[in-house]
Amino acid sequence: MDRGDLLGLRGSGAPGELMIVVDTLVKTFPGAGGAGEVMALQGIDLEIADGEIFGIVGPSGSGKSTLLRCLNLLEEPTSGRILLGGDDLSKLSGSELRSARRRIGTVFQQFNLLHSRTVVGNIEFPLEVAGVGKAERRSRAKALIDLVGLTGKEKSYPSQLSGGQQQRVGIARALAAEPDVLLCDEATSALDPDTTDQILDLVAEVNRRLGVTVVIITHELGVLRRVCTSAARLEAGRIVETGRITDLVAHPGSALGAAIVPVGD
Ligand code: ADP
Ligand code: MG
Repeated sequence: MDRGDLLGLRGSGAPGELMIVVDTLVKTFPGAGGAGEVMALQGIDLEIADGEIFGIVGPSGSGKSTLLRCLNLLEEPTSGRILLGGDDLSKLSGSELRSARRRIGTVFQQFNLLHSRTVVGNIEFPLEVAGVGKAERRSRAKALIDLVGLTGKEKSYPSQLSGGQQQRVGIARALAAEPDVLLCDEATSALDPDTTDQILDLVAEVNRRLGVTVVIITHELGVLRRVCTSAARLEAGRIVETGRITDLVAHPGSALGAAIVPVGD
């Protein structure tokens, strides 16, 4: 799926189409010291429509990072399936798998920038790995720097940037290969509240302008309130609640809805 010009209008994909389908996903890890297995994900079913900003919340240890690492192909599911734009990821190998990986960009809590490279160098890095030519890399990096609001900082090193600016680089880098999905793993947890809001607004703008589907993993309910269109709540490796934010908030029995809109708000 080619998104064409980065800053142009979105091309393919009808609204309402499913971008991600997770079907009975199980992930177990061997227990420490030969102890019993840890069942990190106990049969996850999830549907994320194209163009959504989907929040996944849950307490520490509930399986959020494991789910995200299955989605971006860093972990192999023990059983179950993940479909990306209709393609079963478990059936891909070789060059197909590499190109599927490029359809998903990840933004990390600790930014994970290369400290010996400038802003441009960081954003171009995934394109170098993908074998994109220099002129094309430069023009994409320039458009992305503009999009994330870092014009003038092209030659700065990460150590010369604030946390919020570093995360803008992280977002630009994640978008460099023109992914269909942007995964954010606690992407604002290291930032102060004002910077968090600015980064979330940027993520919403990226979603709107590029049509990228966004999955936000967070333990902060304020994040859901500000940008998400739908959400799921994870507990001990299971999804215990999911739906559109407007429906969750309207539903009197929804713990998630009640938490998103505190009583008296
Ligand atoms: P969260 O991100 O919601 O805090 P995680 O996905 O990191 O949760 O962890 C879910 C469960 O899986 C926890 O019990 C955790 O200890 C376990 N777990 C995660 N990764 C590993 C691993 N590589 N090896 C063993 N256990 C793991
Ligand atoms: Mg985690």
